[in-house]
Amino acid sequence: MNEECGIFGVFIQDEEKIDAAKLAHLGIFALQHRGQESAGIAVSSGKSILVYRDLGLVSEVFNTEILNTLEGNAAIGHVRYSTTGTNNWENSQPILNQYPGGSFALAHNGQIVNSKELKEDLSREPLSTEPPDNGDADSHLFCQSIRSTKYNDIETAIEEIVKKIKGAFCLVILTKDKLIGLRDGYGFHPLVLGKLKNGYAIASEDSAFPLIKAKFIREIKPGEMVVIDKNSCQSKQIIPSNRKSLCVFEHIYFARPDSNVFGENVALIRERIGQQLALEHPVEADIVIPVPDSGRFAALGYSQGSGIPYQEGLLKNPYIGRTFIQPVQELREYTVRLKLSSISAIVKGKRVVMVDDSIVRGTTSKKLVKLLKEAGAKEVHVRISSPPVNYPCRYGIDTPNKEELWANRFSIDQIREWIGAETLGYISLKNLTGVFEKNKPSDFCTACFSGRYPI
Ligand code: AMP
Repeated sequence: MNEECGIFGVFIQDEEKIDAAKLAHLGIFALQHRGQESAGIAVSSGKSILVYRDLGLVSEVFNTEILNTLEGNAAIGHVRYSTTGTNNWENSQPILNQYPGGSFALAHNGQIVNSKELKEDLSREPLSTEPPDNGDADSHLFCQSIRSTKYNDIETAIEEIVKKIKGAFCLVILTKDKLIGLRDGYGFHPLVLGKLKNGYAIASEDSAFPLIKAKFIREIKPGEMVVIDKNSCQSKQIIPSNRKSLCVFEHIYFARPDSNVFGENVALIRERIGQQLALEHPVEADIVIPVPDSGRFAALGYSQGSGIPYQEGLLKNPYIGRTFIQPVQELREYTVRLKLSSISAIVKGKRVVMVDDSIVRGTTSKKLVKLLKEAGAKEVHVRISSPPVNYPCRYGIDTPNKEELWANRFSIDQIREWIGAETLGYISLKNLTGVFEKNKPSDFCTACFSGRYPI
């Protein structure tokens, strides 16, 4: 099952300090953009592990009273955005489970590609027939696999199970005395390590660190397991990493602009993509406007690259979640209007370039072109800072099945006509991967655009 998620972990090495859950709370708050359907924290007191998780935003799930009950010097946190799977409590995380060495809690970001095989294997295991809960998320497969190894030592158990698991995974695992962070061998999604005055932190994105006053140390490498305990922070390469497959969509859409993902700042990369887009798809126009917030930095780049002034012609209501949260198409269409409105005084009589990061089902662009035209825009030229999304993601980014992907069903000109724009231009894959300085084009997973699935 597909999982767009944010994960976080913290270990305070001074055992007197019992407010790890409060730091984890801040951590997942900073990662809220990675998932809005459920939130949870697991905390270790050194003797036992306590988990609190529920459906909703971090601010809805936790309050001071709840946080005060979560005492301990190590904690992990999770925010989840379920996609194809069911959004029920059982699938919220962290998940608590048992292994011969005691209890552990686990939180996962990514998607397993061989879950059917794993489930069949596990069904033969007597221990795994009675898991403590029965959610259908991939993350339960990790737990059940660890449990089924029957190893006393969690690190050995993890090393054993990752040999069988194929797919995209970033994990944080908490035992009563250890915090473990792990990234799959392809490194699809980001995971970073930070230093606190008296401990360590692990997060999906480094933008979660300033809030807890942690200093970024480095990325956790593809295939690397980091183990933090009272005395040390150790690292071990447990999965061979012959080839990187960094998810380029993290930079296009998913990650926070102030994060440094795969060593490069997200806002600056988006700006550069916009500059390239202006060179690749120039147009005569009066203003460049972003689709807030997803198109903001690319629009800025388009303006820099084209010399056309940047203005804000669309307004976002910040109190409503992402469009994709509504699983039903009719509701999704309604939500676009709830979420965004046009500023007529700015767009009226103008030739407008509207920049967004992607067209998936086409709903957002179509509604926005209509909104802008109703507000008096003379022409609307749509520019997209990703190539056409032709193929579903199998590694953890929410994309619908192939039939629902507009670019897979229609030509660019048909899409242009359907959304009602004067012109439509997408950045090419070559120009997109060419904007990175520290990563080679071949370091990225671009399966959603190219259909070349690395696993
Ligand atoms: P659509 O309206 O179906 O064409 O979706 C495109 C809009 O959804 C764009 O404004 C994107 O910013 C946003 N979007 C793209 N990918 C995702 C994703 N994986 N999860 C949530 N929203 C997304």
